[in-house]
Amino acid sequence: METEKENLIENEVTNFIRNIINNDLANGKHSKIITRFPPEPNGYLHIGHAKSICLNFGIARDYNGVCHLRFDDTNPIAEDVEYIESIKEDVKWLGFDWGDKLFFASDYYDKLYEYAEILIKDGKAYVCDLSQEEMRQSRGTLTEPGVNSPYRNRTIEENLELFHRMKQGEFNDGAKSLRAKIDMASPNINMRDPVIYRIKKVQHHRTGDTWCIYPMYDYTHCISDALEGITHSICTLEFEDHRPLYDWYLDQLPVPCHPQQIEFARLNLTYTVMSKRWLLNLVKNNFVKGWDDPRMPTIAGMRRRGFTPESIRNFAEKIGVAKAGSVVDYSLLQFCLREDLNIKAKRVMVVLDPLEVIIENYPDGKVEYLEAENNPEDSSAGNRSIPFSKRLFIEKEDFKEDANKKWYRFTLGAEVRLKHAYYVTCKEVIKNENGEVIKLICTYDSDSRGGWTNDGRKVKGTSHWVSAEHCVKTEVRLYEQLFNDSDPMNVPEGKNYTDNLNLDSLKVLSDCYAEPSLKDASPGEKFQFLRQGYFVADYDFTKDNPVFNRITTLKDSWAKLEKKLNQ
Ligand code: ATP
Ligand code: MG
Repeated sequence: METEKENLIENEVTNFIRNIINNDLANGKHSKIITRFPPEPNGYLHIGHAKSICLNFGIARDYNGVCHLRFDDTNPIAEDVEYIESIKEDVKWLGFDWGDKLFFASDYYDKLYEYAEILIKDGKAYVCDLSQEEMRQSRGTLTEPGVNSPYRNRTIEENLELFHRMKQGEFNDGAKSLRAKIDMASPNINMRDPVIYRIKKVQHHRTGDTWCIYPMYDYTHCISDALEGITHSICTLEFEDHRPLYDWYLDQLPVPCHPQQIEFARLNLTYTVMSKRWLLNLVKNNFVKGWDDPRMPTIAGMRRRGFTPESIRNFAEKIGVAKAGSVVDYSLLQFCLREDLNIKAKRVMVVLDPLEVIIENYPDGKVEYLEAENNPEDSSAGNRSIPFSKRLFIEKEDFKEDANKKWYRFTLGAEVRLKHAYYVTCKEVIKNENGEVIKLICTYDSDSRGGWTNDGRKVKGTSHWVSAEHCVKTEVRLYEQLFNDSDPMNVPEGKNYTDNLNLDSLKVLSDCYAEPSLKDASPGEKFQFLRQGYFVADYDFTKDNPVFNRITTLKDSWAKLEKKLNQ
């Protein structure tokens, strides 16, 4: 057991956060590591959050520690129970477990209020009557100090009484706030008497009407960490300037411990917007079909798109953790995905754009069941049998009338291998009145069963196919990047990031034909459609209405080579 764990730590990519933890363990500052993942339930989680989840839960796992799931629910206006449920589902799906360590910042409202009274009693907080706008104006700038509030010197008694009356609901929203009394001349603007409590007469999704004053994030977060005994409070870089405030609150208050805040660079991905606010906007304005639209970078969307938890965890490990911000190429995420699907996805045959083929010399009504291996990368995946008959469908693009010598697929007179089946030769091309090819008449070589002969004959091209009589009609949804621009938020003046949306990011093909085994697919099951890419049975998938989403194309050398030859 012990060696297993040691190996695990050794195999892990180390990073500066793990170095800090290793030191803290070595010099006895901590013996048990406790981290937390603290989402605000104001939207669905995205791939950036996945980085943070893998980091926090990964550290807890590797150090035999614990990671808490804590909802930072201090802003009832934007928050919703729907989001809480989706976040829990997403963390679990990624493969992490918070055990019984599920917390809500709102659980600490009483304690936070009590602590605020302590700050007042110690002369470190005061009730201020300035409006938000007045406060902004008196805060100063990066180069100029702020101006003290005229209410800064209220007596402790007066502050206590006013704060109590704020809680009782005697004042309107915005009429008063409780502020920390720190330093209006501090070079760090976060330290210029930040607001601790504001009045908001709104219902909270957990505490209902109990409160009409709500604590600010900075105040709540550090105290929540301390109350839970968090050892390392890992957050993204934008909180670096807030760290002095994090430490100030904890230094003033009789909290049980003082966690260490450590910042790392957030994940940015090309072709992706990564903020709940922008994602919500896409959902609200129907640019996508909900938070779990397969084009969304939300975990729910990626799950529906066919991403696996393993691929996302591997991605998080590959990108690592650093102090300096950077933009990760989306293709790295796809690489991690293909790497995982390659081992897991069953190879099947689906014709996306069908062209009818009649095997002239194949007996009418005969059906043969041919062996097909499920996954050449996984010998334990076994075989299945697929029906072959006189009438087939192949891919329209696999036929070319004017073919050159480098074309190995269907053309008049050429011999082609049907995957897992036979060698066939096109004898006649049938066209409609518009001159479009609608049918191929072929013959087959009955000695080539399984797709090979022992006479040394060379047949280079291989096509996928389905038996017309047995196949299943399916809908296939082809997804592309949601944005045309690799940096979607980088727009000229007067433009919006939604101007960068790729209007062709979804193509629906409604007349595709799949081999019969696919009607038994279960929602979420993943496949490689030979030569077409990886696909997943959609959530809506039923036997009567089979729908597949394309997860990603194949970066397959076969397809690439073919493309080159056809140019
Ligand atoms: P958003 O900007 O998308 O609204 P947020 O930071 O406001 O994100 P929170 O719910 O507050 O969202 O985030 C929960 C945790 O996830 C925080 O610790 C935050 O630092 C982390 N996180 C959010 N976005 C990223 C990202 N792109 N990369 C890494 N971690 C992130
Ligand atoms: Mg936030």
